[in-house]
Amino acid sequence: MPDGAATATPDPRIGEVLVTEEQLATRVRELGEEISRDYAGRDVLLVGVLKGAVFFLSDLMRHLEMACEVDFMAVASYGSSTDCSGVVRILKDLDVSIEGRDVLIVEDIVDSGLTLSYLLRTMRARQPASLEVCALLTKPERLKVDLPIRYTGFEIPNRFVIGYGLDYAQKYRQLPFVAVLAD
Ligand code: 5GP
Repeated sequence: MPDGAATATPDPRIGEVLVTEEQLATRVRELGEEISRDYAGRDVLLVGVLKGAVFFLSDLMRHLEMACEVDFMAVASYGSSTDCSGVVRILKDLDVSIEGRDVLIVEDIVDSGLTLSYLLRTMRARQPASLEVCALLTKPERLKVDLPIRYTGFEIPNRFVIGYGLDYAQKYRQLPFVAVLAD
C-alpha cells in the first residue's frame, strides 16, 4: 500500500453476521441436492424474483442435476423500504408460459409472506403442472399467512438483513454473507 493511503474503514451499517459465506455455500449445495432428487427426470422452470434472488438462484442452479430453465419476475410492494404492505405490483412478468410446467419459485427472503402469497395466487391461475417455493431465508416470527414453502435455507430472527442479494436502498447486495443492517 502506498505511504499515507487510508485503510478501508469497516462500514458501520454492516452489523452482526447471521449466515456466513461457508454456511451459505453448504446449505445451497444441500438444497440443490434435495431439489435434484425430488425433480429427477423432470424439466423444471425456476422463477427468480428480481433482484435479490439472482445471487441465490445462480448458485443454486449450479447444483441442480435435472433439466432446468430460468425466468424472472420483478415485483414491487407499496410501502416503505423496510416494511411490506402486502399490495404487490408486477413490474416485469415472465417471458414464457408456465401452463403445464413444473415451476419452482426461488425467493431470497420471506418476511410477512404477503409478496409470495400474491405471487403464488397469480401463478396458480396460470395452471402450472406443479408449483413449489424455495426460499433462502424465512422469518417465522413475522409470517402473517400460511405458505407452502417446500424448501427453506435458513430461519432467521426478526431483523432486517443485507447481503447475498439482499439490499438496503439498493446497496450491500454484493456482500458474500447475510448480516443485520445496523442502526
Ligand atoms: P414479505 O412480502 O414477505 O413481507 O417481504 C417481501 C420482500 O420484502 C422481500 O422479497 C424482500 O424484498 C423484502 N424484505 C423483507 N425482509 C427483508 C430483509 O430483512 N432484508 C431485505 N433486504 N429485504 C427484505
